[in-house]
Amino acid sequence: MAYPKLVINKQKLFKNARHVLETCKQEGIEVVGVVKGINALDGILETLIDVGFKTLASSRIPQLKRIKEINKDILTYDLRIPMLSEVPDVVKWADISLNSSIEVLRALNEEAKKQEKIHKVIIMTECGDLREGIFNQEELLATVDEVEHRLDHLYLMGIGTNLGCYGSIMPTPEKMKELLEKADLVSQTIGRKIEVVSGAASTAFPLVARATMPAGITQMRIGDSLYISDLDECFNYVMFPDSDEAFTLHAEIIELKDKPSYPIGVIAVDAFGNKKEYENKGIRTRALIAVGRQDLGECLHLKPLDSQIEILGGSSDHTILDLTLCDRQYKLGDIVTFHIMYENMLMLTQSAYVEKEYI
Ligand SMILES: *Cc1c(COP(=O)(O)O)cnc(C)c1O
Repeated sequence: MAYPKLVINKQKLFKNARHVLETCKQEGIEVVGVVKGINALDGILETLIDVGFKTLASSRIPQLKRIKEINKDILTYDLRIPMLSEVPDVVKWADISLNSSIEVLRALNEEAKKQEKIHKVIIMTECGDLREGIFNQEELLATVDEVEHRLDHLYLMGIGTNLGCYGSIMPTPEKMKELLEKADLVSQTIGRKIEVVSGAASTAFPLVARATMPAGITQMRIGDSLYISDLDECFNYVMFPDSDEAFTLHAEIIELKDKPSYPIGVIAVDAFGNKKEYENKGIRTRALIAVGRQDLGECLHLKPLDSQIEILGGSSDHTILDLTLCDRQYKLGDIVTFHIMYENMLMLTQSAYVEKEYI
């Protein structure tokens, strides 16, 4: 056994992912399973395929390639607007891609012709989160018109939007209606009804679960909510209880000592150049565990299973815990366990220094 270790409970993962797929299906919405947040780990891909996902998506082409290697019948879906320089690989490994620029669409069309394929596209529109998507309505309609009528190696599946990423914009029924209005205009422009209106990501799942998602949204691209339940407070919706969390981080205590809580000397910046505030709480029982920001990003996002543990912070290779209030008597060499948030999952799953164990 090696630590730090990310333990993935396949049964719980199956149950949680299945719940999302079934809930959306009941509302007539197809779920595209997003695997970029778990680094397309084989064991997780296999579980999602068992659950019944027919389309899996990522922003990274090597992950789409891995999906095809595991099961060539699964449709692959490229989430990040393609780089012009990766167009050949996009056509090769992705059945579907999200797009927002006519230059890229023309390049995809040329490449699809070369590879003797029809490449499917969804055009992203901007609904205010201000990451990818066409903002201007004329540009949107000119783009879909050209794809539909002139780029004959592309197939226009529909349109989509992204929310809750850069601009922190909440997916609301109003935002979804805005997207549906654009979808109607697009259908009118091309003279047939588009089949895909791709709503949003995990942050929109509560709309579906509460049956407040406007009719007409046909697809959601969901990653986070299949795996972890870390957005409960923000969206006032519990994806699943703590006991159903499928991902647990296990890390080992390498130092356990009583020390002051307030640093001694001239305070400058920490290892990452940040200026921080420290509270003087006197002498505390502090533990160092052998896992740090290189492995998991923001240490403060970890949720200790022992709720009496307080996380103080960390640096590249260490996380510092305050164990003063714990009933349990920890000792050097003990293993401490945590549930994780998105950034932790993203990094832990891709770190070569973190053991992965499926149970
Ligand atoms: C990452 C991503 C998603 C999925 O986001 P989650 O929060 O993991 O559900 C959906 N759409 C796009 C365009 C993305 O980049």
